[in-house]
Amino acid sequence: MKIGVSIATASLLKLKNYSIDALPTTLYFLISGRCKGACGYCYVRHGYLARIRWPEFDFDEVKKRIKDGVAKRICMQTVYNEKTFELLKKILNGIDASIPISASINPMDIEKLRELKDAGLERAGFGLDACSKRIFNKWKKNVPSWDEYINALKNAKKIFGEATAHLIIGLGENDEEAIKIMKMLSSHKIKIALFAYTKNNITIPSLSRYRAMQIARYFIEKGKFSFEDGKLKEIEIPYHAAKAFETSGCPYCNRPFYNERVTKIYNYPYKLNENEFKNALKEAEKYARIYIVD
Ligand code: SF4
Repeated sequence: MKIGVSIATASLLKLKNYSIDALPTTLYFLISGRCKGACGYCYVRHGYLARIRWPEFDFDEVKKRIKDGVAKRICMQTVYNEKTFELLKKILNGIDASIPISASINPMDIEKLRELKDAGLERAGFGLDACSKRIFNKWKKNVPSWDEYINALKNAKKIFGEATAHLIIGLGENDEEAIKIMKMLSSHKIKIALFAYTKNNITIPSLSRYRAMQIARYFIEKGKFSFEDGKLKEIEIPYHAAKAFETSGCPYCNRPFYNERVTKIYNYPYKLNENEFKNALKEAEKYARIYIVD
């Protein structure tokens, strides 16, 4: 059986010697197969997810190299088809290491989620991707509906105790829609993994807007947000936090340069230094006024 391995993961596991700019703290795999979905922003058919290429390796060779200590988490990206569920279970059963495993999956019924848990899945992530039903219906074709994704997220939270929703900024949503869905997900204690839409290797949302959205995600419960015609105007937060600009999602998921070139980082795959933090804040302030309130 073959499995797709991100090039950074393949380097970390010494499957191949690619040159990489930052080591992943999570091992990223893509379960092979043709996706039935036809999401307008996805390049999985061409062998890519966002900017990442997924060369295939023999799973028996890969699993020998997955040992405790090699990374802090494993993430299985999946495509949407009838075979994925059984393949995912087989792969989960084949991994001996006790590293927690996430999988980015499509909606499935509760029994199947339970089976994945029994096979060793620690938590599930779902590519909701769109920030509103309006955007979802525009981009996501041949996949379950918006309501099915929302229900699956809630069910996963109940079954695994944790669930993660992927959201992409830059698909045409306005800021109010993005913050509304973040608030809703957060009210159900569902974690949010924020991505920037990448098309032909170009990151679409402006860096300043993305910085403001990162602050909104980080302070979604404590912050106050005001809008003008759907655009974020002001953010009130209790303090500044460099962590807001790091990659978000499951613990230890850093997805190095998934959405961006190393020269213009959107999601920092490491802890920011003082200078990077100052610049990130300055960038966010170009987009919206930010107040610190006690
Ligand atoms: S947040 Fe990261 S580890 Fe979690 S499902 Fe998404 S890509 Fe995988």
